[in-house]
Amino acid sequence: MGQKKDAEIIHKKAVVVDAHCDTLSLLAEGRVSFADAGEGHVDLRRLKQGGINVVFFAVFVHPRNRGAYLRKALEQVDAFHTTVAVHREDLVAVREYSGLRRALAAGKIAGILSVEGGHVLEGSLGVLRVLYQMYVRCLTLTWNGRNKLADGVGESESRGGLTSFGREVVREMERLGMLVDVAHLAPAGFWDVVRMAKNPVIDTHANSRVLCDHPRNLTDEQVRALAATGGVVGVNFVPAFVDPANPTIEAVADHIEHLATVGGIDCVGIGSDFDGTANTVAGLDDAACLPLLTACLVDRGWQEAHIRKVLGGNFLRVLKETWK
Ligand SMILES: [Zn+2]
Repeated sequence: MGQKKDAEIIHKKAVVVDAHCDTLSLLAEGRVSFADAGEGHVDLRRLKQGGINVVFFAVFVHPRNRGAYLRKALEQVDAFHTTVAVHREDLVAVREYSGLRRALAAGKIAGILSVEGGHVLEGSLGVLRVLYQMYVRCLTLTWNGRNKLADGVGESESRGGLTSFGREVVREMERLGMLVDVAHLAPAGFWDVVRMAKNPVIDTHANSRVLCDHPRNLTDEQVRALAATGGVVGVNFVPAFVDPANPTIEAVADHIEHLATVGGIDCVGIGSDFDGTANTVAGLDDAACLPLLTACLVDRGWQEAHIRKVLGGNFLRVLKETWK
C-alpha cells in the first residue's frame, strides 16, 4: 500500500515525456477525436490520467501515398494546430524550450510536432525549413524503407548509409536546432549520423536488441554510441519490439533497465508508439496506463531521481540543449 502510494506521488511530481505517438494521422483522417479517442490510445482524458506532460505528435505519411507525401503531411500539421486551437485550455504547441517550461508551469500539456520519415521532404531543404516554421522540431530521418536521405531498417541488406542529401538535412537540422531521430534507420545510417552529429542524437521509439532481436531495436554498441552523444532512447511499447511471446509491463521495465545498464541512466526515456500499433502490451493499453510503469520501477527498488530521468527528465535535457 505504502509503495503504491509512493509510486503515484512520484509519477504525479515527475515531468512525463512521451517522445512518440501516431495520433495525428488518425486525427487528420477524422478517425478519432482528441476529446475522446474511443478505441484510440491517446486523447486529452487519457493524457491527463496518465500524467503525461509533454507529447511528441508525429506526422506520419505511409510511403504508399506516392505523389501526396507533402500534402498528407501538411494535413497532419494542420490537424496538430487545429487540435491545439480547439483545446487551448489544456494543450499548447511548443517550439522553444522557454515555451515548453511556460506550458508546464501553467499545468498544460506541451505538444511537440515531429515528422516520422524524411520522404515528406521530397528532396528539398526548403521544405525542411518551412516545416520548421510550422513548428516541426524533430525529424525521424527514415521510416522502414529507403528514401532520399538514407535506408531504413527494411533495407539494411543494402548497407546504405546517409546520402549526401541526408547529410545536408542533418546539418541543416542541427543549424536550426531540430532533434535528429534515428528510429527506423538502418545501421549504416545510424553510424553515419552518430559520427557527424554535433548535438545529442535521439531514437524516439526503440528497445534493446539484446532482449528482443528485432531490426527496429538497438544493439548495445548502438546504445553506447547514442548515449555518448548525450542522446536518449525512448522505450517503445509495441509488443513486437518488447517481447512478442510475452509482452508485459515487466518486459518493458526489463528494456528500461537494460538500456540504463548499457548506456547509463541519462540515455533512457519513453516513446510509447501509441496509435502506431493495433496490439498493445498487457497493462499498457493506452496513455492513461503510464503510472503503472512507474509503479513497476518502484517495485523494483528504483530510486525516485532515476525514475524521473526516465519518465521525462532525460528528454527535457536534450530539448533544452538542442532547441535554439
Ligand atoms: Zn515508428
